[in-house]
Amino acid sequence: MSEPSSFFIATPIFYVNDVPHIGHGYTQVAADVLARWNRQNGKDAWMLTGTDEHGQKILRTAMANGVEPQQWADNLVEKAWLPLLETLDIANDDFIRTTDPRHEQAVQKFLTLLHDRGFIYQGDYEGFYCVGCEEYKQLSDLVDGEGEFEGQKVCPSHGRPVEVLKENNYFFTLSHFQDRLLELYREQPDFIQPESVRNEIIAFVTRGLDDLSISRAQLDWGIELPFDKDHVTYVWFEALLNYITATGWGSDEQEFERRWPAIQLVGKDIARFHAVIWPAMLMAAGLQPPRRVFAHGWLLVGGEKMSKTKLTGIAPNDITDVFGSDAFRYYFLRAITFGADGSFSWEDLAARYEAELANGFGNLSSRVVSMITRYFDGVVPEVAQSDLSDAERHIHDVLAEQTARANAAMDRFMVHEALAAIWVIVDELNGYLTEQQPWVVAKDEAARGRLAAVLYTAANGVRALAVLYSPVMPNACGLLWSALGGTRVLGELDQQLLSAAGAAEGLPTGHSVGALEPLFPRIDTE
Ligand SMILES: [Zn+2]
Repeated sequence: MSEPSSFFIATPIFYVNDVPHIGHGYTQVAADVLARWNRQNGKDAWMLTGTDEHGQKILRTAMANGVEPQQWADNLVEKAWLPLLETLDIANDDFIRTTDPRHEQAVQKFLTLLHDRGFIYQGDYEGFYCVGCEEYKQLSDLVDGEGEFEGQKVCPSHGRPVEVLKENNYFFTLSHFQDRLLELYREQPDFIQPESVRNEIIAFVTRGLDDLSISRAQLDWGIELPFDKDHVTYVWFEALLNYITATGWGSDEQEFERRWPAIQLVGKDIARFHAVIWPAMLMAAGLQPPRRVFAHGWLLVGGEKMSKTKLTGIAPNDITDVFGSDAFRYYFLRAITFGADGSFSWEDLAARYEAELANGFGNLSSRVVSMITRYFDGVVPEVAQSDLSDAERHIHDVLAEQTARANAAMDRFMVHEALAAIWVIVDELNGYLTEQQPWVVAKDEAARGRLAAVLYTAANGVRALAVLYSPVMPNACGLLWSALGGTRVLGELDQQLLSAAGAAEGLPTGHSVGALEPLFPRIDTE
């Protein structure tokens, strides 16, 4: 095993046949938050994302648009996929494209290794191929077509007829790995999560595995087999390899040792590729399987899976242009149980933005900073122990408990649970201010000590929130951190240990706070 301090998380690489929708954004944000969280707890965290650029579907789309496939891919990467990362403030460490020479060379090396080891053989294949899925279908997978395809068998995902392909192909001996895969799932019960997906995968593998056709002899767009130049590699087989070709396998063994194995964050529809084919490929090469495959659910809009083909695709910047990227990042992780399907609606987004961000976290922060400015000339007051009451001790407990709860939830990838824990702190602090009424205490000159205790406790709580929310909302938390004087007295926000965020006296005293503009401005949602 590599060092336990390593935390390598990878998103699936995204297919460049079209532009991103919010489902892609959701995956990116989840991976980014998990990477930032672990990095900010001292792990050697590394986040990988990228694009999948080969295959028949890309070739056909490019040809239909009158351009070469490489040109098609270059254009989409530059105009759509890289800008998505900026739009959502994704702090990825690398971006791999399957047309990168580093990928193509390592894929050929991997194929040669498996061929030499006897895990690749040549044979005839006839099957039903869905170009949309880029995979062969079993007859039992197909459903009856409707409308113009009535009377034909169609792909259940694409609703379009499949093609009957017969060709002389190369095969990967996937069937040999049934027992070893079942053993992996048994020995490492959290290898596939959530449980529903794990059960489905175990049932699938238990039924038996067919060898996998891994090459195409017909006109295609892909990486040549090193041992037969008339074939290119099946797009899924080489795309999966990005997780190791990006981390130095075959070129930089030290880097590979440092990173691998990865946590694979995937949509549940591609869990089979990542939890069955991918670990088998790695076993064949004598490499460790991924650390974990975590399948998140689908985003639903009006009950349908988000995708362009269903015409419900919403571009991420449709949301960020109105609400900002912090709100995008917060909303999807807060509102949806990570691992389950979740519904998106503009109404729900607007309601949470107003209640939790503008009126909740944002307003709390502004009030605390402005009261310190008004009552203590902007200087964070010192507190005498004798001025502390049970109310302050309760807030100390809340900070410690919810910080621990948030960290434990993030360790289990339960991002929504971590955000629910942090929300308890917002809620408790707002309740605390309502009860303590510092604006009333301020009128009593003799109660300066109590006023200091209340405002310090509130300011320290807001400090904890700035730290705990920073992996999710880096922009707003950065503004708050700088208003609290955090960088001057505690150092950079992203250097603050999340596990220590709940400290009762984490904020130094005696320094000045600065002005704080509204973190989440009111939005006219007409
Ligand atoms: Zn299909």
